[in-house]
Amino acid sequence: MPAAAMPRFYFDHNATTPLHPEVASAMSAVLGLGPDAKAGSVFGNPSSIHWAGREARSLVEDARESLARLIAVDPAEIVFTSGGTEADNLAILGAAASGRLRGRHLIASTMEHPAVLEAFRKLEAEGWPISWIDPDGEGVVRPEDVDRAITPETGLVSVMAANNETGAVQPIAAIGKSLRERGILFHCDGVQALGKMAEVRPRAWKVDYLALSAHKINGPKGVGALYVRKGAPLQGLALGGPQERQIRGGTENVLGIAGFGKAAEVWSRLGETERPRLSALRDALAAALTARIPGLVINSAGAERVPNTLNVTFPGCKADLMVMGLDMREVAVSAGSACASGSVKYSHVLLAMGKGKEAAASSLRFSLGLGNSESEVEPLAEAVAAVASSVRGM
Ligand code: PLP
Repeated sequence: MPAAAMPRFYFDHNATTPLHPEVASAMSAVLGLGPDAKAGSVFGNPSSIHWAGREARSLVEDARESLARLIAVDPAEIVFTSGGTEADNLAILGAAASGRLRGRHLIASTMEHPAVLEAFRKLEAEGWPISWIDPDGEGVVRPEDVDRAITPETGLVSVMAANNETGAVQPIAAIGKSLRERGILFHCDGVQALGKMAEVRPRAWKVDYLALSAHKINGPKGVGALYVRKGAPLQGLALGGPQERQIRGGTENVLGIAGFGKAAEVWSRLGETERPRLSALRDALAAALTARIPGLVINSAGAERVPNTLNVTFPGCKADLMVMGLDMREVAVSAGSACASGSVKYSHVLLAMGKGKEAAASSLRFSLGLGNSESEVEPLAEAVAAVASSVRGM
């Protein structure tokens, strides 16, 4: 008799999320499949003026409206991209290339995602002076630290809305107010905030550029968006046709964009009930782990966090060994950022928080999502405790 399959656990929703069934059906319908499909697929080029183009255009514009509604902006301020990485790159490199910054000095936090860090490092290598700001011990960038770094030459600042490793929510509105008063442009990576924060509000936050990604909110991978405030300077990077208001040349990813729009609709409907549910689950998991594992530390516990993220240091336990040990029990979690998993290194976020190398190499991120339920908490905590005790000191 075949052995019963072990139940599988997925606690890595900050790396990516599964497609929501409604997103899958909306995308199937674009492909001409499934009960929602009209006659045939929607295959036209959205730039074509004939019926086939118009069908595709209407999918793209409906999605733009859904996303704009979720973040309370004008649809004309949304530029679709190939993901969060391109949106971050476009904002930073495109603002720098516009020639319209107040000056060449830039400010960024050290705990940004590599999509932001690498864009700033490129500019730094080209001679742009950059001030790098560390967060405090809770993983929060202090607005007064940003203020102190500002010079008369500061042109652009970047601080993320919520950190992907710790979940710590940043004081974006306070930073934005101070920057807008001085005429300094503000880029914010909102990838991990969308859906998880009750209000992602670039206008109220006085953010000029906000990067978003579909696959973190149960949409498809390979599609994202950049909110660009009306009037904010931006030089496109992908040169070509006049798509996306001449900011991003290239025929739009109609299928992906339609999926992104549906995911935005799903989260605008479910967010209000999902957020408290996820934060209760997250807290139950923290309590179950604390009860079983001596000496663990919950990172950013003193900060406001997005509801789904729990980052825990297991002293004496190498995070890469824990990820592998848990994977053998069909449990998916992550050490540090998703991009670092597979080539485990110190978490640059925990190092930036002053945690030290030992902690930065022995911390796991549990990130929850739509599919997780209360019944998973105890078995997950049991598995983590067993793996922690088997790898401790190795
Ligand atoms: N920014 C943050 C904070 C992220 O967590 C991620 C993905 O992990 C990205 C940007 C990159 O997004 P994408 O995978 O869509 O390129």
